[in-house]
Amino acid sequence: MGNMEYSFVEPFQEMTWNGPIIFMHWKIDEENKVVDQITPNVERIFGYTPEDIITGNVPILSIIFEEDRDKFRAAMVQRIASQSPWESSYRIYAKNGDIRFIKSYTYLKQDNITSKISNFSFLFDQTEIKQEINMHISLEHQWATAIDSAREGVWDWDLEKNDVFFSKHWKSMLGYEEHELPNQLIEWRKRIHPLDVEKVNEVIEEHIRNDSVFFESEHRLRHSDGTYRWILDRGKAVKRDEYGVALRMIGTHVDITERKETEYQLQQRNKELEHLVDQVKELSITDPLTSLYNRRKMIDEIKKAQHQLEKNRQPFTIAILDLDYFKNINDQYGHTFGDIALQTFSNLLKRQIPSPNIVARWGGEEFMLLFHNKNGIETQRQLLSLQACCNDELLKYRMDSVKLSFSAGICEVTEHQSREVIIKNADQAMYLAKSLGRNQINLYKEGLPVV
Ligand code: GH3
Ligand code: MG
Ligand code: MG
Repeated sequence: MGNMEYSFVEPFQEMTWNGPIIFMHWKIDEENKVVDQITPNVERIFGYTPEDIITGNVPILSIIFEEDRDKFRAAMVQRIASQSPWESSYRIYAKNGDIRFIKSYTYLKQDNITSKISNFSFLFDQTEIKQEINMHISLEHQWATAIDSAREGVWDWDLEKNDVFFSKHWKSMLGYEEHELPNQLIEWRKRIHPLDVEKVNEVIEEHIRNDSVFFESEHRLRHSDGTYRWILDRGKAVKRDEYGVALRMIGTHVDITERKETEYQLQQRNKELEHLVDQVKELSITDPLTSLYNRRKMIDEIKKAQHQLEKNRQPFTIAILDLDYFKNINDQYGHTFGDIALQTFSNLLKRQIPSPNIVARWGGEEFMLLFHNKNGIETQRQLLSLQACCNDELLKYRMDSVKLSFSAGICEVTEHQSREVIIKNADQAMYLAKSLGRNQINLYKEGLPVV
């Protein structure tokens, strides 16, 4: 009490000194708020002595919670202008760092002589009541605590109050102790993987609008260790307003990282497998020495061409090419060089007979070509230009040019004929070319002599 003087009557004095209500008198002095009387219970409630406050060592405004200070100041200015009593709620930093929740009631009185305004305030400490309310709120979340488990974390979002609750395991799933993560929506939002944000918002908004029965989302959340965990988030509104908009939603989190990883690995394996299948398919239709299509693929392509002919009356031709005196090349330069010769000729074919025409190695030094939508004469013309490419520059053994030539037989297909007949006809024309001296291109006609 010190040597302070108080003008209050005794019981009132007794109550205010020991009770939960601080009584103070203050004036506005050149924009400053000066407290000149305050009851000693301020020390018990805030931890500051009356002297701390009265001497201005601890200006009263400085101990108001920052966020509340401006609001408080604005209300004060307004009420002083209108000279009406006012009520206000704000938080005060106690000396020990605690936050006290205060409700104040201020009465203003103007001095008749000086016309200065005196303010009398009651400051009522509501911290305990607040704590009880909070206790009550956490009772509301008891259901959540009951079903909270290491497998399933729980959340409860009150959209009206903008209040959210995360259960113990909800937090531990992200690597946090219960006290380490505040119950604020932002704590969840800011952890969502940037690539998942849009989709998550979409499903939640949809459910808030009542456009889905429940919502379910698989998205990544950042763990305290910096990695992302895949979370299966399922929720449902338990309260909606008259327009159907969600007011409260509850839901669960399940960590599905392992499943996602297995899924990913499986996907990768499937991709590899598909790739392998493609390779096998490719190999099964490719000739390994020349990487032209093989005989099997050519037979397939002839079947397709026959089908097109029947369906769309689209004619085609086939040509069989057999290299001339190829045995001599092997005999003279060796088998390996023979292989190179086959590859050289194959590359020439690829260049000169581009897709959609089909080029295949039919056997040893025999090739078969298929031309879509071409007649025999056009095919013959194309083979003549191929023949012209088989010049001295095409194949060399060291410095020597090795002459490559082929004999060809062409069969034009304009109406249905069996594959055997088509091939036999082309063969027949080719053998005639051979018998006529080789390096020739022969078109099959009916009545052609068989050699
Ligand atoms: P013709 O003008 O009558 O066709 O004479 P040719 O020597 O080309 O005919 P023949 O059928 O007697 O010989 C074909 C030769 O092609 C025999 C074989 O050794 C050779 N040959 C077939 N396949 C390959 C191969 O993959 N590599 C090599 N180096 N030679 C092959
Ligand atoms: Mg041959
Ligand atoms: Mg030959």
